[in-house]
Amino acid sequence: MEKRGKVIDSNLIKLLSSLGCKILKDEPLSRHCSFKIGGPADFFVEIPSKEALDCFLRSASTCNYFVLGGGTNILFGDDGYRGIIISLAGKFKEISVLGEKIISGSGALLSNVVNTALKNSLTGLECVAGIPGTVGGAICGNAGNKYQWISEAVEGVEVYKSLDEEFINKEKIVFGYRKSGLENCIITNVSFFLKRNTENDSLSTISKSVQKRLETQPLSIPNAGSIFKNPVEFSVGKLVEESGLKGICIGGAKISELHGNFIVNCGDASAKDVLALIDLIKNRVKEKFNIDLETEIKIIK
Ligand SMILES: Cc1cc2nc3c(=O)[nH]c(=O)nc-3n(C[C@H](O)[C@H](O)[C@H](O)COP(=O)(O)OP(=O)(O)OC[C@H]3O[C@@H](n4cnc5c(N)ncnc54)[C@H](O)[C@@H]3O)c2cc1C
Repeated sequence: MEKRGKVIDSNLIKLLSSLGCKILKDEPLSRHCSFKIGGPADFFVEIPSKEALDCFLRSASTCNYFVLGGGTNILFGDDGYRGIIISLAGKFKEISVLGEKIISGSGALLSNVVNTALKNSLTGLECVAGIPGTVGGAICGNAGNKYQWISEAVEGVEVYKSLDEEFINKEKIVFGYRKSGLENCIITNVSFFLKRNTENDSLSTISKSVQKRLETQPLSIPNAGSIFKNPVEFSVGKLVEESGLKGICIGGAKISELHGNFIVNCGDASAKDVLALIDLIKNRVKEKFNIDLETEIKIIK
């Protein structure tokens, strides 16, 4: 969610601080994303409660702001962000179990929700095991694997749309491949409706999928997951491999040798390096296969 306008002023800083917000000025965004790339944001605000979020939205509605989850699907620009990055913390990380439902704050780690389901013998979230980031980010981008998405387990979500809070039932959410139609909302809470697991096979499903990730993804080097969405009936990893691009470097960024749809930060990559590799892949795949690739990662400048 992005808006143009003024940036946070000293009165608002005082007000938000009094509501428990942690406010950082000129905060390097490389500290807040899995790519470890990105210049400073004018302000980085951790919001601990609905009361503080409500106050922020009412006082800063004309400010330029962006809601960040775990930063695992994002490339921030080298010049950073002129405005306020908000991160939902504190109460937004709480998770509770009500029978076969899990209610989670959007700032909770997805892995904590998957573990909660496992501990309570609830099934339905195995498809997102091993995906980093928060519940809010996963819902916004309808995270999942090749066969299943998180949307299948969702009962509804609580959001702020402009200044109004509302609960949206799943039937009214337009989930699709890596999209939810909630991109202009702030997701605050998610209700998952799961099933009692009588087979007790979740742990083995999760272990297999995590093992596959370890074997096929460059998890020990900073990255942001898949760079591009897979076009229908194609795998970007294969298209990149068949284009002879695996292992190519520009500056400190490299197309992973392990997975062609991953770009890794070898230590000192800039956003410019990553964007140059993105262009290279797009152009080469267009030339060779006449396929237009669409980025999956969000590029925020
Ligand atoms: C190693 C690796 C493997 C990955 N594997 C997968 C995979 O298998 N499947 C998959 O789908 N993804 C995968 N990803 C991508 C990423 O982890 C997911 O997209 C994840 O769900 C993003 O969550 P996040 O909290 O990090 O979101 P962020 O990256 O912080 O944000 C992503 C988007 O969500 C929005 N957003 C975040 N929180 C909220 C909120 N509360 N309200 C409204 N909007 C919000 C942001 O504004 C942004 O537009 C992988 C990433 C990595 C690094």
